[in-house]
Amino acid sequence: MHDLSTIMDEMEHALNTNNFLRLTALEDLHKNENGDPFKILIGTILSSRTRDENTTKALIKLFKRYKGAKDISKANPDDIKKEISSVGFYNVKAIRIKEVAEIIEKKFHGLVPDSEEELLKLPGVGRKTANCVLVYAFQKSAIPVDTHVHRISNRLSLVNTKTAQETEKELNNYVDKKHWITLNSTFVRYGQNICLPINPKCRYCNLKKICKYYHTENEKKKNIPN
Ligand code: SF4
Repeated sequence: MHDLSTIMDEMEHALNTNNFLRLTALEDLHKNENGDPFKILIGTILSSRTRDENTTKALIKLFKRYKGAKDISKANPDDIKKEISSVGFYNVKAIRIKEVAEIIEKKFHGLVPDSEEELLKLPGVGRKTANCVLVYAFQKSAIPVDTHVHRISNRLSLVNTKTAQETEKELNNYVDKKHWITLNSTFVRYGQNICLPINPKCRYCNLKKICKYYHTENEKKKNIPN
């Protein structure tokens, strides 16, 4: 196992020195909306299988029309669909976010719960979304594992897993709690800008020595006949 502090420092250094400075949609939300838990919850639901810029676009349109949970709980799903049409699966997501808004209004008096247990009971909220809300809205220690965190953790042999759920479990055991809150944001920015799913930009990366993926790919290239 490698020291995660050093790994995250190397990632931040590579992002900064190569001018990959754009924030993720969730970091953006956290910064611009003062960590508004309802907007972060809805933003995380909208972000699934969607590019960050399209999530941000949908959120801006949605909250321009509706002020918060109360308004969305009373909205017509067809009108919600129009506002969020830039995200993937917007038909299903429109219905989900209306249901979530109704529950937040009725059961929690308009306030998003700050416990994993209650968050997981909301429709369309899985572990990743619940953990994102805990980290980005409430600054509670959790490790949201999305596709970037899962891929990079395996490439760097921090874990050896097949699913995001297994990765979360292994990272929870392995990573010191002081890193939990920042791990997602560093890994997601690294995954969006340098350690891409296909053709990662390894030339910018100082983690080649410890990267299983990098060595495997190099070996494959050596074995290609001329
Ligand atoms: S060496 Fe390449 S594949 Fe490995 S962590 Fe760095 S960018 Fe990702």
